[in-house]
Order: sequence, then structure tokens, then C-alpha cells
Amino acid sequence: MKRVISLIFIGIFSACLIMVNFFNHFFAEQSLKRDAEQLLFQFHDALNEANLALHELPDPEQVQCNEATQTRLAQSSFDNPAIRNLTIIHGQDQYCSSSAIEIAIEDYKEHAIDSEYDLASIQHLNKSADFLMVRHHGDSKYIMSINPFMVNYLAEFACSNCLDYTFTIHGEPELIFSSAFQNTNQVIQYQVDKTEGNLKLSLVLHASQDFVNYYKELSWFAAVLFATIVASVLSIISYKLLTRRQSMQHMIHDALKYNEFTPYYQPIVDSRSGKLIGVEMLARWIKKDGSVIPPYQFIPYAEESGLIIDITEQILIKTAADINRFGWNKGLIFTSINIVPEHLSDDRLFHFMQGLIEKESLAAHCFSLEITERRQIEDLENAKHRLYPFYKMGMNLKLDDAGTGYGGFSYVQELGISTLKIDKMFVDTINQDDIKSQVLDAIINFANTSCLSTIAEGVESMEQVQYLASKGVFNIQGYVYAKPMAAQEMQFWQPKATHLER
Ligand code: C2E
Ligand code: CA
Ligand code: CA
Repeated sequence: MKRVISLIFIGIFSACLIMVNFFNHFFAEQSLKRDAEQLLFQFHDALNEANLALHELPDPEQVQCNEATQTRLAQSSFDNPAIRNLTIIHGQDQYCSSSAIEIAIEDYKEHAIDSEYDLASIQHLNKSADFLMVRHHGDSKYIMSINPFMVNYLAEFACSNCLDYTFTIHGEPELIFSSAFQNTNQVIQYQVDKTEGNLKLSLVLHASQDFVNYYKELSWFAAVLFATIVASVLSIISYKLLTRRQSMQHMIHDALKYNEFTPYYQPIVDSRSGKLIGVEMLARWIKKDGSVIPPYQFIPYAEESGLIIDITEQILIKTAADINRFGWNKGLIFTSINIVPEHLSDDRLFHFMQGLIEKESLAAHCFSLEITERRQIEDLENAKHRLYPFYKMGMNLKLDDAGTGYGGFSYVQELGISTLKIDKMFVDTINQDDIKSQVLDAIINFANTSCLSTIAEGVESMEQVQYLASKGVFNIQGYVYAKPMAAQEMQFWQPKATHLER
């Protein structure tokens, strides 16, 4: 048990850490996306402002390069963070500049981008490039050097060193600016494009693990704390469930030892004649103190642990004796027994029932078997093989909870089913505006076309009895006739007058 709980704890703990890591990554991606979109938008804005500033300057051919002009050029570049340098060119000569930095005019290349801007670039030997905006005027022009990602754009990012960018202005030729790729461990990237008129811009932002760490929602400490709490809570719940299951198994063992499992019987009545045609045997656990435990509280554990086999046998011994007591030993009234797929894995049940039938001198068809469609039979071929001796002896097989579970059709085809027990779920839809009421009709049609008899389960009202009769379903099991009862009560039970005739 300790090992199982430790494994559960480790499993959940690891799953939580993986989940936190996944979400952290997701949040970082969302931040990168948001930042890239904002950055490209800001850059586009800066281009517009720089272009405006360029066109507010006087005709370059009329300008005298004096201190006042230099101050004005410097002021323009100072006012607009996108402008690094403003220079007036006459012909091939730099005439006047906002700063002392010379522009390498020889490597100057104009870009044919059909936009409101005239763009150019200067490619440097170290592969970096200056991005220029140009205003022509006769033989003269202004050249404005733009810094695509000046630090104050990236200053928005608290983690600016975690980012690298590749910025492209599409055209002939393309203008590409990249950061110096300071991060080699780029773990996520996001591309954003913007088209306005003929200007097409793209930005690819690459982010490092530091970026992911910066934007993650939960720190390692919080993640470990979260994982520890979740894993502890779920391990405690698992422990409780497992010990409960173990103690339930112990209790079932004791109940078997003290012979506490007992059959109850629920009548199955022909609604036309009002006569009892059979019963379903339903297990009850009657404790020493007389309290009755219903099947849903122990059957699932009994099935899971395999103890259902012993329980069935304990109850069958009492049932066989009851059948004699009721005077049903000729088999005119059948008793249905619930079996599970485990009963069909070997011949134990067959030999046990054969022994009982001989011992109590019963006709074999006193018994009928019910197998639920809710549980899957892994090996249909083997199940069919195990059922054969029962059929040969004279018992038949009913499909319980028909329409609710696994491959009813294949069970009918493969297992030699004689009767469909229509589940309460479908009976409940009678006269209700429910799509499932069509399923009820479909199940009945299926039974008719497959020459199967039917029993409707969970029938609680005469209205339902009448509807079912109108569809040819007359065998009724439900509170409308009787609830399951102990043998003492069953022995003297008489059906009321036929409801259908009333
Ligand atoms: P089931 O085989 O489908 O049995 C029918 C269940 O429906 C019974 O519940 C019965 O009391 C209930 N029922 C019948 N008519 C009505 C009705 O008109 N209204 C309502 N509300 N309920 C109705 P029960 O006895 O509590 O049994 C529950 C389930 O436990 C059974 O469903 C069966 O799957 C399982 N079970 C009972 N005894 C055994 C057993 O000996 N062996 C196995 N393997 N399973 C059993
Ligand atoms: Ca049943
Ligand atoms: Ca059923």
C-alpha cells in the first residue's frame, strides 16, 4: 500500500510540475506575441512621425549650412526617438548634418518600395545596416538615418536582453535588420506582419529561456509548493479509497464466512393475464444486526475483487432451496440469476449449478441467466463456449440493461441471447418528450425482428404498462407490481388483479 501511495504521489507531483511548466511556456508565448505586435505597431508609428518631421524641414537647396540649421537638424533628431541622424546631401557631397557622424554615402542603396516613404539603406562591412528615409529635392536630398530598434523601443521590455529580433521591410531589395543575436538559447519565437498601403513590415522576435523565466506565472518554489499540495491531497484521497476498498473486501470476506448474503426476489408479471411468470433474484447483504445493505454498496467491490463468484454461490444455495419451498421445482416459474463475465471464464458456475439442480431435484429451466450489457466481455468466443453446457441443460440467457452498454448486437449474435431486458432508463422515457423514447421503440423493434422475447424493467406506472403492451411488451418487472422482497414474503405473494383488464 505504501509503495502504491508513494507512486501515486510521485506521479501526481511530476504531472503537476509538467503542467506548470506547460502553462508557464504558454504565458511566455502570449507575452512574446503581445510584445511583438506592440513593437511593430510602435515602429510603424515612429516611421510615420519621422516622415512627417522630414517633410516639415525647409527645401534642402535653399538651406544655408550654419549653426542655426545644424541646431534645427539636431533638434528634429532629438525630438523624434526614431531619428538618429539628419544630413543634407548636395549631389554626392554631404553638405550639412545634425551630428558629426559621417554617413558612408558610397554604399548608399535606394529601395524601390512603392510607399509614401522613400527608403534606402547603407550596408556596412560588418553586415549591419543603416536604414534611411529620404526626401528628394532636385539634385539635393535629406537623408534621415533611422534606428529601427532604438533602445527606448525595447526599453518597454523589462527583459530586453532576453530578446533578439529580425526586422524586414519587404521590397526591392528587402531591408533586413537584425539584432546582434546575443542569445544562443532562443527557446521561443513569434513572427508578426503588418501591411499598410504598399509598405510591408515583418518582425520576428526570438526569446531566450530567461524571457520564459521572466514571464512565467509560477516560480519554481510556487510550482513545487502547488505540486506538493495537489499530490498530497490526491494521495490522501487515494489512500482513503484504497483502504476503504481493502476494508470492504475484508468485510465481504467476513460476510461470506457468516453466510450473510441472501436472495431477494422481484416478480416478473405477464401484464395480459396478471400472472407471475418468473422472478429476478437480487442479492442483499443482511448484517447480524438485521440491517440490509443494497447491492450498489458492495457488488462493485465484489466484482472488482472476484468475490462475486463466492457471493453468487452462497446465494444460489439459498435460492435453490427457496425454489423448492415456493413449489417452482418443475420450472413453470423461472428464477433469473445475475452473472458477470468472470463467471464465464471457466466452468465453475456450471458445475456448481449442475450440482445444486441435482441435489434439490430441480428442472434446469427453473433457472435463467442474466448478463449485463454494461460490462464488456473480453473473449466472446470463450464466453459462448462456456454458455453451451447451460443451454444444453435447458437454461436460457437474458441480456440485462439492453441498450445501455457494450455491443448488445454482437452479444445477441454471438451468445445466443433469448430475451432482452429493457432498461429502466428507456422505460422512464415513456410519454416523456425525450429523444431516448425513440431508442425504446428501436430496442423493441430490434427484439421483434430478431425473434427475441422482452422483459421491461423498472416499470412504475400503469401508463407505462399500457404503452409497453401497445408495443407488444407484456413481461413486466417493476414497482408497479412489486419491489424485490425476501423469500418469506415471496412465498405468499400473489399478483393483484390484472391491471390491463381494469
Ligand atoms: P439489475 O440487474 O438491473 O436489477 C434491477 C434493479 O432495478 C434492482 O435493483 C431492482 O430493485 C431495481 N428495480 C426494479 N424495478 C424497479 C422500479 O420500478 N423502480 C426502481 N426505481 N427500481 C427498480 P437492486 O436490487 O438494487 O440491484 C441493483 C443492481 O445490482 C442490479 O441491477 C444488478 O446489476 C446488481 N445485482 C443485484 N444482485 C446481484 C447479484 O446477485 N449478482 C450480480 N452480479 N449483480 C447483482
Ligand atoms: Ca438483472
Ligand atoms: Ca437491469
